[in-house]
Amino acid sequence: MTIDGWKRETVALLCEAGLASSPSLDARLLLEMVTGLDQASQLVHYQRVLTPAELALLTQLRSKRLDHQPMAYILGIKEFWGRTFAVDHRVLIPRADTETLVETVLSYVRTKRSEEFLPIIDLCTGSGAIGITLAAELGVEVTLSDKSGDALAVADGNARSILSRPLPLIEDDLLYNCTAKYGIIVSNPPYLTPAWIEAVSREVGWEPRMALDGQSDDGLALIRVLIEQSTAHLKDGGALFLECDRRQAEEIARLMRSASFGEVQVVRDLAGLERVVWGILHE
Ligand code: GLN
Repeated sequence: MTIDGWKRETVALLCEAGLASSPSLDARLLLEMVTGLDQASQLVHYQRVLTPAELALLTQLRSKRLDHQPMAYILGIKEFWGRTFAVDHRVLIPRADTETLVETVLSYVRTKRSEEFLPIIDLCTGSGAIGITLAAELGVEVTLSDKSGDALAVADGNARSILSRPLPLIEDDLLYNCTAKYGIIVSNPPYLTPAWIEAVSREVGWEPRMALDGQSDDGLALIRVLIEQSTAHLKDGGALFLECDRRQAEEIARLMRSASFGEVQVVRDLAGLERVVWGILHE
């Protein structure tokens, strides 16, 4: 079979399986992974015949995709803020929406002196996408925390490969065992409700439920604890930044105000949906 033949067959199979959002891209990326040929080379060499070994591997990878495994897990990588993060089933795949959280922290930091915003901790770090991006952009240390040791192993690998240095890691459930105080606490915690988890695509079923499940009917159980704990673990004038669903932003802003956070703001993502809530702690 030729490269072009495999691509056509794969696009048809993906569409049949209900995976019609980017079938050509998926086919191209799988081909690139196995043959090493990028998009342009695949077009130039479209009549090249695939070797039996290539074909066997492609069939195997394609069947994972037909089983609705996310492309990021099959490829083992995901782009976030222009950098390549290693990902696997131990961590949530970084979402483009989460770049709004990073952007909000970066624009806050630009108005502050370093002694005001340091140290920084990224809670529920998963792959480390948020904390490592902040560390890279700001040239500072960011502590990465997660209750999953498996996730921390992925974050550690990403810090070492992206920053060429390790970042401090803490294995903890939110801030339960924390003794330090921070200038910034940033988190994309699990916040989905059971109903929302059921409603999202089958692909999400491959991701760790622990990274998604907000553990209450409104998805806010962990965020409530996090806001409460943050009041004891932020320096005076420190800031808390949370990602959430648009249906939660108003309630989170209310919770933050009643926990003595001031200047509470809601920021929309690129789709125009409320995605980030943040505020400054005034003692
Ligand atoms: N935004 C993610 C999703 O909808 C949820 C991430 C989370 O719970 N932190 O899949």
